[in-house]
Parts: sequence; C-alpha cells; structure tokens
Amino acid sequence: PKRIVVVGGVAGGMSAAARARRLDETAEIVVLERGEHVSYANCGLPYYVGGEITDPAALLVQTPESLRAALALDVRTGHDVVGLDPRARTVTVRRTAGTEQVAYDALVLAPGAQASRPPLPGLDSPRVRTLRTVPDALELRGAVRDGARHAVVLGAGFIGVEAAEALAQQGLEVAVVELAPHPLPPFEDELAQLVADELRRLGVAVHTGVAAESVVHEAERDTVVLADGTRLAADLVVLATGVRPDTSVFEAAGVACERGAVVVDAHGRTSVPGVWAVGDATVSTDPVTGARRPVALAGPANRAGRLVADDILRPGTARPIPDPVGTAIVRVGSLTAALTGANRAALETAGIAYRTVHLHPNQHAGYFPGAGQVHLLLHLGADDGRLLGAQAVGADGVDKRIDVLATAIRAGMTAGDLIDLDLAYSPPYGQAKDPVNLAGMLAQNVLDGTLRLWYAQDVDAVLSGALVLDVRSKAEFVTGHLPGALNVPHTELRERLAEVRAEAAGRPVRVLCASGVRSAIAHRVLTQSGLDSASLSGGTLTLRAAL
Ligand code: FAD
Repeated sequence: PKRIVVVGGVAGGMSAAARARRLDETAEIVVLERGEHVSYANCGLPYYVGGEITDPAALLVQTPESLRAALALDVRTGHDVVGLDPRARTVTVRRTAGTEQVAYDALVLAPGAQASRPPLPGLDSPRVRTLRTVPDALELRGAVRDGARHAVVLGAGFIGVEAAEALAQQGLEVAVVELAPHPLPPFEDELAQLVADELRRLGVAVHTGVAAESVVHEAERDTVVLADGTRLAADLVVLATGVRPDTSVFEAAGVACERGAVVVDAHGRTSVPGVWAVGDATVSTDPVTGARRPVALAGPANRAGRLVADDILRPGTARPIPDPVGTAIVRVGSLTAALTGANRAALETAGIAYRTVHLHPNQHAGYFPGAGQVHLLLHLGADDGRLLGAQAVGADGVDKRIDVLATAIRAGMTAGDLIDLDLAYSPPYGQAKDPVNLAGMLAQNVLDGTLRLWYAQDVDAVLSGALVLDVRSKAEFVTGHLPGALNVPHTELRERLAEVRAEAAGRPVRVLCASGVRSAIAHRVLTQSGLDSASLSGGTLTLRAAL
C-alpha cells in the first residue's frame, strides 16, 4: 500500500488528501501542517475581522478529528517540515517534541505562500500584523477589542482592501497605502477609481502612488511614514503587500523553482520523482499571454490538489491541470469588483495586439426596480477577436458576468461567440440582450470597423487636434463638458450635419456621450456622411474615472 504524505493542510493539500482517500481506501495518508489548524477558511478571515462572521469556529471547516472520522486521514498539526531527502524519500519534521523523519512513497507539497516583507525599517514593530491565518485574525480582533483606533494597511491588493474595509467596519480610522496608482493594481485605472471612491465613502483614507518608507515604533502608537512625507498614526499596521511562495525548504532540497515558485508539469509533478506540488507555491503559465507567474487563488489550488491525487493513484489517466486564467472577485462596500484573464499591462508586456471596449449596461431590465450599471471592460485580440480579459465593477450582477466571461476565455471564444450566448433572462435578472451579449456586439462592431473608438487616454491629443462633439442633451452638457466641445444632441445631429462639418473645418470629429451608446449612433451618422469620426469608449462615465 502507498504512503502519501502531504505538506500543508489547507486548500490544495487537503483537497489532494481527501481525493486520495476517496480513490483508495488502502493508502496511508498523512497530512503535515505547521500551524495549529487545518482546512480553515483563509478567504473568510477578513469577514471575521470585520464582524460579519461572529464565531471563529465557523472558520474551521474541518478539524483533524473530523478528517480522521470521515476520511481516515492522519492529520498532524504543529508539524513543520524543515527538510526533504528525495533519495531516501523522507521529510524531516520539526515539532515541539523534537525532529523526526517521515517516509513517503508520494509527496504532495502544498505549503502555500507567506506575506512578503518589503525591506522597510520598522516592520519588526509588534503592532505590525499580517492576515493569513486564524491566529492572525484573532489577533487583529484582539487589537480592536484592546482599543486600537487607527489602522494603516500597507498594500491595497485584494487582501489589503478586504482588511481595510473590515477594520473600518469595526469603527477604526483606516488608511491604506498603495505604491501603484490605484487600489487593486490588477484592475485597469478607469475601473479601479470606482473602488477608490467606494473606499473613501467607507471612510478609508486612500494613499496611492506612494511608498511607505518606514514604521516608527513608539510606546503610545506607531507612525507610518510615507515617501511624500505624510505621517499616519497607527495602533495597528496590517502588512498586505503581496505574498511569496513558502518553498525555501524544498528548493534547498533540489526541487526546481522559478523565482521561488515550484515548477510543475501538467500533472503537478515537480523536477523530483515522487514529489508533486500545487497551489500558491507553484508557478503556472498564463494561458492568455504565456507569462509565467504564481496564481495565489483558492479555486486553482483546490482543483489542482484533486487532480494531483488522481495522478498519484491513477497514473496515466488523470486529466491535466489547466493553467489558471486568474479569475478573481472582491467586495468593497456596496460594490463588487471582479476580473478574469489578462489586463492591459500584461497584454502590452506580451506584445499582443488588442482592442478594448467599455460599456455600462444595466445588470437587469432598466424598467425593473433596482436597475444599476455594471461598469464593464473587455480586451479582445485585434486580429482574431478572441476574448483576452474582462473586468467589471458594480453594485449587482458583476459576479455573473465575469464568470460567464471567464468561461468564454477558457473556451477560446471570440466577440461573435459572446453575441451568440444564450443567457438566462427575465426582467429581475438580466436583459434580453445581456451585458455579455452587448459587450460582444460592441466588440464585433469595433473589430469589423462598424464602430471606431477613441479612448480617455487620448483626450489631450483630441483636445488639441479634433472637434469634440458632445451628443448628450443640453441639460447634461451644462453639468460639465470638455473645453471647446460642440453640443449637438444625437437626436438633432442629422439636421445639423452642415453645422458640424463647418465647425470641424477639416479636423477629425471625436464624439462623446455619457456611456458610449448615443455617440456610437452619432458616429454612424457622421462616418456615413464622409466625416472622420470616432466615438469615446465608455463615454464620460469612463473618461471621468480615468482622469
Ligand atoms: P494554503 O491554503 O495557504 O495552505 C498552506 C498551508 O501549508 C498553511 O497552512 C501553512 O501553514 C502550511 N505550511 C507551509 N509550509 C509548511 C511546512 N514547511 N510544513 C508544514 N506546513 C507548512 N483566494 C480566493 O480565490 N478568493 C478569496 O476570496 C481569497 N481570500 C483570501 C483572503 C485571505 C485573508 C487570504 C490569506 C487568502 C485568500 N485567498 C483567496 C487565497 C487563498 O486562500 C489561497 O490561494 C489558497 O489558500 C492557497 O492554497 P494552498 O493550498 O496553496 O496554500
């Protein structure tokens, strides 16, 4: 009988162990976990800190006892794997009682990642915490109970934003510091600004485009000093500047790594025979851009764990582990922000020619109560129209659209395929032309030249060299418009074409409205009358957020 040893007893590791048992009643399955808990809900930790989850026991999805009872797993907590001998097929385990060797036939590495610690003076202050484990979450709650009033969160990635909101929910004055120009760095600027606004609405001070330089530890309270001289008082500093694979023990033992992340083949096999790896600790290939990077997300880790067990126990028949596209979602106050696939920066680094479309459709029929906009953007291959990436922010309906678009990326769908999707519709849920269908129609028009776009980033060039034609109503126009813009509501355009032509005086016409719908109609009128025209992608809603 086989002895399968798993290092790390949470997402990827426990998925592998549980699946292994379901496939093989005779295998001996040992799970070695450094911490005091296994199978805990790391993704749920911020909601315990914020108080929405009240009972910390709810974070413990399984216990060693429940896993022994249900799956006959030998789960050993407080067991830190500190060495690996691939030739002897043993790992060295350190526990309070001393060290021991544990032998394996198959070894699954699922050590996850650790909070990365930037070289910042003062991070050794006892007020600096991370949010990775149940004890971390309990400590944060403890600090709140002990009267912490000011918190500084370093890093506004997913965990940083969740931590900031959670601490603000607890009544603390929270500041978040992010080196990138906006919170949630993987998001495009024009959508991330909506998240920044929402954080401010929640009372969180947002410091972006600035580095934290040091943490000054004082008896009463710490001070976080930023590169621009800002000084932020902190009873609590949450370090959330990213993660790095927790693999040094295994790399030292000869397991091939790329920038610290374990290299695996399509079945999770490492360079060392008999050793597999999954989860945050591994590197994968971005299926859109070909870039190599670790993906620190729970879904890919759980699914890879399951497939690794298949490969160990059913060699030759297991399905390969797909490369994750990196679909992710986060709640920020009353908004949801989600993304899938590649963003602009990744596409540009990879040298992939792409087109971007922005749209702001309602999540469900506009006439049904509660209608609200989904701010959506898609990147598509300029040549083949394939969906490369999508992002959305809105109060409702974001999760459904991004999941459909994630599925579309996995399936290699194009703009045309998005138009053709049959999606569930009745007024409380969607539109007869769902936002995903609409995005496909818009993209198809752009790709085949029916619609020509200009972008918020081009605004300076447009202001200096084109006639800006604002086709919103007069009432909208007077609330604010670009300097020098000519206002011709789209309903009057056909009668006032001569006026537009005279005003343009040979210059290109760059049209805009609030969301891009009316300006697209206007563009068709203008272009068919022989004018050089283009419509602002996403309209003033996108322009305002991007400026
Ligand atoms: P982990 O689940 O981190 O498990 C690794 C375990 O290995 C740890 O318990 C560690 O103690 C143990 N270990 C490490 N080294 C050793 C060793 N040498 N010996 C013994 N044990 C060892 N992902 C999402 O998709 N959605 C979310 O909403 C989301 N929210 C998150 C919120 C927070 C606060 C955090 C921290 C993470 C969140 N994640 C989320 C990420 C997700 O939790 C991880 O991607 C996922 O848990 C990775 O699984 P893993 O098995 O690779 O590692």
